[in-house]
Amino acid sequence: ALEVHGVHKWYGSHRVLDGIDLTVRPGEVTVILGPSGSGKSTLLRVVNHLEKPEIGHVSVGGELIGVKRHGDRLRELSERAILAQRSRIGFVFQNFNLFPHLTVLENVAAAPAATGRLTRAAARELARELLDRVGLGDKTGAYPRQLSGGQQQRVAIARALALRPGIILFDEPTSALDPELVGEVLAVIKDLATSGTTLVIVTHEIGFAREVADRVVFIDGGRIVEQGPPGEVLDRPRHTRTREFLGKVL
Ligand code: ATP
Ligand code: MG
Repeated sequence: ALEVHGVHKWYGSHRVLDGIDLTVRPGEVTVILGPSGSGKSTLLRVVNHLEKPEIGHVSVGGELIGVKRHGDRLRELSERAILAQRSRIGFVFQNFNLFPHLTVLENVAAAPAATGRLTRAAARELARELLDRVGLGDKTGAYPRQLSGGQQQRVAIARALALRPGIILFDEPTSALDPELVGEVLAVIKDLATSGTTLVIVTHEIGFAREVADRVVFIDGGRIVEQGPPGEVLDRPRHTRTREFLGKVL
C-alpha cells in the first residue's frame, strides 16, 4: 500500500499541503481531483520524494520513501537510495518528457538497461512487449517528434511500466492532448487499472474517474475535503466546495 501520513509542505510561508493523510491499497485506483493550485502535483511529487515534506512522511509497501528512522527523527536517505526507490514508483507527466534523441524502443528500454536490472537485449525485448501492449508495436523505430501527442504519452506509459513499478502516478496525463487523442491514452490507463496495477491519477476527466476509480479524492487548499467511491463523491458530494468544483468541470 501507499501511505501518506500527516504531510505538510510549505513553499516559503505559503502552505501548499496542509495535513494530508491518504492510503492507497495494492491494486486500487485513486483519482485525485481539485482546483488549480490546490496541491495535487505537489502531493504526487512528495510521494516519490521529488519534494520533501516539512512534516509527515510517505511509505510504499511499508518502506519509508526518501528518509529513514534515526531514533525518533527522520533522516534523509542517500541520493542513490532515493533514486532506487523512485525507480519503483512510476511517474507519467502531463508533457510526456521523452528523450528526443532516442527512438521509441530506446526510450522504453533505457531505464531497465541502465539500472542493470536487465541485459540490453532483455530490456529491448521487454520494451517491444510493452509497446505492443499500448498499441505502438509498429512505432518502435520512430523518434518522439514523429509521433502524435497521444502516441508519445503511450510511449511514456510503456516507459513507466518498464521498471515494473509497484505503483504508477499520473499527473494530468491527458491535459496537454488534443481532445481527439485523449481517448486512446485513457484506454491504456484503463487497461492498467483493470489488470490490477496500483494507480494514482490526477485528472479532470470526470467520466473516466467514474468508470475506473475505486476512490475519488477531492483536494482543496492542500487538504482532502472528501473522499470515497466515485458514486458518492461525484454524484452525491457532501461538501459545498466539491459541488462547486464539479459544477465547473462537469
Ligand atoms: P494545477 O491543477 O494547476 O496543476 P496543482 O493542484 O497541481 O495545480 P501544485 O502545482 O501542487 O497545484 O501547486 C500548489 C501551490 O504551490 C500553487 O499555489 C503553486 O503556485 C505553489 N507551488 C508549486 N510549486 C512551487 C515551487 N516550486 N515553488 C513555489 N511555489 C510552488
Ligand atoms: Mg498540477
